[in-house]
Amino acid sequence: MGVVHVIPVDDLIEHEEAGDGCPCGPHVEFVSGGQVVVHHSLDGRERTEST
Ligand SMILES: [Zn+2]
Repeated sequence: MGVVHVIPVDDLIEHEEAGDGCPCGPHVEFVSGGQVVVHHSLDGRERTEST
């Protein structure tokens, strides 16, 4: 299985799929047979609080 990256589509930044050095600070989940790197979307979450 290896490493699977879950990356938000149409995000504002380019996510790094090599290693774990992505600027979004991805969350790594270890599953049977490999690991899943869950990337965080940087658009719309914090920005919605600045009203
Ligand atoms: Zn990322």
